[in-house]
Amino acid sequence: MPASCHHTHPDNRPCGSPTVTGSPYCFHHARPRKPTPARPRRAFALPPLTDRKSIQAASRHILDAVARNKLDAHRATTMLYALQIAANVTPRTADDTIPPSSPTEPTCPTSPPR
Ligand SMILES: [Zn+2]
Repeated sequence: MPASCHHTHPDNRPCGSPTVTGSPYCFHHARPRKPTPARPRRAFALPPLTDRKSIQAASRHILDAVARNKLDAHRATTMLYALQIAANVTPRTADDTIPPSSPTEPTCPTSPPR
């Protein structure tokens, strides 16, 4: 009868599989583990933050990346917070006028009916 694998699982259960000849481990646990290479992250470039409109464009860029699962929520939160700070210290200009409100209130497609 072959010996049992010496590997112990994280919950302290022994592996129990038969060992490979000349090894104290089974076929699965005798193989050397290759570390999974980390996938290089693609650079996430934002437009230069020169005015409030470019800050708005950057925030849309971030939200689009989150929606497409290209940017994790933690990084997005950090970036949006930085954009909020940038917006707070960027002076308003005449181009930053608020568009006139529409005669009908827009409805949110995800809101429940009233
Ligand atoms: Zn094993």
